[in-house]
Amino acid sequence: MGEGESGAFSAEDALEIILEFDRTGKISYANASARNKLGYEELRGQHISALFPNAFRMTDTGFESDLSFGDGTGHLVIYRGNRTCFPVEAKIKENADCPGTFICMANDILEREHLGREIGQVREEARQAARLKSEFVANVTHELRTPVNGILGNVRELLNHVTDVQTVKTLRLVERCCGDMNKIINNILDFSKLDAGKFILEPRRFHFRSMLDYVKAQHISRITEKGLDFFMTVSPQVPEYIIGDELRIVQILNNLLSNALKFTSAGEIALQVLRTAQVEDKVELFFIVSDTGIGIGEADMDKLFRSFSQVDASISRKYGGTGLGLSICRQLVELMGGGIEAESKQGKGSTFSFSIWAEAEEEALPEEPDDVKAAFMHMAVHEDGAVQEKGGGREYGTPENQEALKRHLSRLILSVEMENWEKAEMFMEAVRQLTEGAPPDVRRQVLRLKMAVQKENYDKVMEEYQKLGICDTSF
Ligand code: ADP
Repeated sequence: MGEGESGAFSAEDALEIILEFDRTGKISYANASARNKLGYEELRGQHISALFPNAFRMTDTGFESDLSFGDGTGHLVIYRGNRTCFPVEAKIKENADCPGTFICMANDILEREHLGREIGQVREEARQAARLKSEFVANVTHELRTPVNGILGNVRELLNHVTDVQTVKTLRLVERCCGDMNKIINNILDFSKLDAGKFILEPRRFHFRSMLDYVKAQHISRITEKGLDFFMTVSPQVPEYIIGDELRIVQILNNLLSNALKFTSAGEIALQVLRTAQVEDKVELFFIVSDTGIGIGEADMDKLFRSFSQVDASISRKYGGTGLGLSICRQLVELMGGGIEAESKQGKGSTFSFSIWAEAEEEALPEEPDDVKAAFMHMAVHEDGAVQEKGGGREYGTPENQEALKRHLSRLILSVEMENWEKAEMFMEAVRQLTEGAPPDVRRQVLRLKMAVQKENYDKVMEEYQKLGICDTSF
């Protein structure tokens, strides 16, 4: 075929360079793209080794090449008539329609390589800028710490000497402001370390329940000051001692409890801990922090764990905060091999749950079944084991009460079926509380059911459960 004609493979207008050459290496066809890009006066008749000197050698009979011809592509360098060159991605194969001739198809990848290099450069610059920013933030916050602690120290010193009530009040206020400032500084420092991937966990052995008591002690007075109830339950399956980063677990719990406290003006706050899995000496601990506060709208749920994000500006004005807390919690929880989630209904309250993996010293105990875990997500459990349904439901016979009863009975039966008697007793206690105002025959039947649960007698529980259904048709 001749130059300028449409080739046998309809290649004339193709964007890629298309060449045909014979056994002797002589080019018999070059498409428009080849003619334009390679700048030869006449491409036909040129030897293929002139275009690809690194891939083809001219011989007495034709050419030699180390390339494997076929459908695979490779990177080659193609030379123009003026001996400048550019990289191509090329495929060379024998022409099936005309044996003894070869077709070379080559794409100019100069631009792509340029682009790739530019992208790499931009990416590197962005990485550098981010690193510089993180270092700057870390330095500035660190520098801020010194004056804040200076003020704090002096205020505390003054507080030792001052007796005037108004001055003491002012100094206490300054002390509190410094405390808040330190919290913000610590958050920003943690955030920049986590952001830069420089955060290191410091695991050590600690007594798990003492850690929870410490967390509780930090919040309980403000919780009671606000007139809220606080419930804390730890499943007996949670080991006494674990090896984990205590400080960071405390930090996550503090953040979730402070938020719960900040956004709740009536009702209760609950903290529960379950052991949800064990693999050899590693345990998965599942924490639930729930409140009956203002809740979060559905549209805002996905913003929660993002850095610097607060649900809306009016909330930040009213309640303060940096919007970093939950993002830090998420990153810390992920470093501990777990995840964090939130469930909420506007005006009804929020439940934050997270899991972490830690080392345990004790022998494996049966795990908490998923259904029980899910059931726990929706209720607050009293420290003594009693269960309180959110939003009341204590008054026997009301729709809320009947609904709560139904729910607790089904959880009770679920726990019995799983032979988790400890859980069953908790749900039983809730059923007992919810039937406190019931007619005497119902209460008696509930007591019989309770005894069967306490005896851990499966058949008896099922029997008494059936009877309970018969003795009060309202649920
Ligand atoms: P901040 O330090 O501003 O509280 P967080 O990351 O801890 O930052 O929380 C981000 C936002 O998520 C809060 O400003 C609030 O809008 C919402 N939020 C977090 N916890 C709760 C909760 N328990 N109830 C209602 N809203 C919450």
